[in-house]
Amino acid sequence: MTYQTSAQRFADLVATVPIVDTHNDFPYLVRSQLHYETENDDQFTFDTGLTCHTDLVKLRKGGIGIQFFSCFIECKDEDPLYQDFNKATTVVRDTMEQIDYVRRLAERYNHEFSYVSQSSDAIKAFKEDGKMALAMGVEGLHQVDTSLAVLRQYFELGVRYITLTHNCDNPFATAASSVSGGLPDRGLSDYGRQCVREMNRLGMMVDLSHVSVKTMTDALEVTKAPVIFSHSSAYAVTPHLRNVPDHVLLKVKENGGVVCVNFFPEFIYRTSDKVATIDDAVAHILHIANLIGWEHVGLGSDFDGIPEGPKGLEDVSKYPDLIMQVMEHSDATDKQISMLMGGNVLRVWQENERIAQELQGEGAKLIDDNWPDREWKFFDYVEEFPEVYPGSFQKKKNVYTSQPLDACEGQKK
Ligand SMILES: [Zn+2]
Repeated sequence: MTYQTSAQRFADLVATVPIVDTHNDFPYLVRSQLHYETENDDQFTFDTGLTCHTDLVKLRKGGIGIQFFSCFIECKDEDPLYQDFNKATTVVRDTMEQIDYVRRLAERYNHEFSYVSQSSDAIKAFKEDGKMALAMGVEGLHQVDTSLAVLRQYFELGVRYITLTHNCDNPFATAASSVSGGLPDRGLSDYGRQCVREMNRLGMMVDLSHVSVKTMTDALEVTKAPVIFSHSSAYAVTPHLRNVPDHVLLKVKENGGVVCVNFFPEFIYRTSDKVATIDDAVAHILHIANLIGWEHVGLGSDFDGIPEGPKGLEDVSKYPDLIMQVMEHSDATDKQISMLMGGNVLRVWQENERIAQELQGEGAKLIDDNWPDREWKFFDYVEEFPEVYPGSFQKKKNVYTSQPLDACEGQKK
């Protein structure tokens, strides 16, 4: 079919293919500015328009089919290079609040949204119900606070990808920002390898945005399922530590994964004045498509997690403009454009689900290893309790401290 305009071509495609964006930080704005108290806030007019990058009006205009909201919580230490991962933080509580808010949003606006945790439900929401599917990702394994049990519970709550690091190291992996801050690139730890195996077994997608180059290549070696970069662009076009170098892109091709291009001006500009436009986003998409194929590129805007979008790509209403620009600047077929719009992310999601099923079918055991350096602290009254089996008290290394007598007397039974 020949089209007179790319607008007509886009209109035909978006009727059958969902636009998928793998990274939007709107929940974090609501956290930091409103402490999630939106229920009785008359100024919170999400369904008729807000001043940030994301609201229902703009999402509809942007033709979004499936939106992954990031349940991001920052690394808690004031020192971004900190290495004491036993230090207690509020990160799990805070992540739960993010998860709660995404699910609240889906419920509150359920005439437009459908909360999903399976790719088939996302497709059904788009194709049969005419709704936008909302899914969740967690931005950094620091958010599981050293524990695979927490990771499993996030999965139970519907989280479908976890970024291996944010801008800090954790017991699993090395972050790109730590390496640029002068720390060695240790890549994935042994515990991190176990974590990737557990993510594969669950069907939790491995996200390699934010991680160091060695973490990228280590994870690509270990994983049995295709990976995503939920919000990263191409290093060859804009040399920034958050972008993906060509030699890693080539491995992503082998792995069958997808790199979802981030729109943050600082990651995509091509001029010395660091100003970015929609054309820069197109250049990143085309670089990835030309190097490793249209099967491996997607959209991961980072909207509302960045101060502003590039000129011409200011908020979530602008995806149609971006797709039309790509049509006009390439000879991509409709099939290739539809892979960029969302087909690739859906394929990777489905593949992660299929591999998880296969691993569980083969009897892959749940991984209950703990981080070997974890500190386990108890009050010494637990030493009076019965042994699980002979010798079990000596099995693991604990730190025992004494509790004041009158405080513990009533509680220990
Ligand atoms: Zn990020």
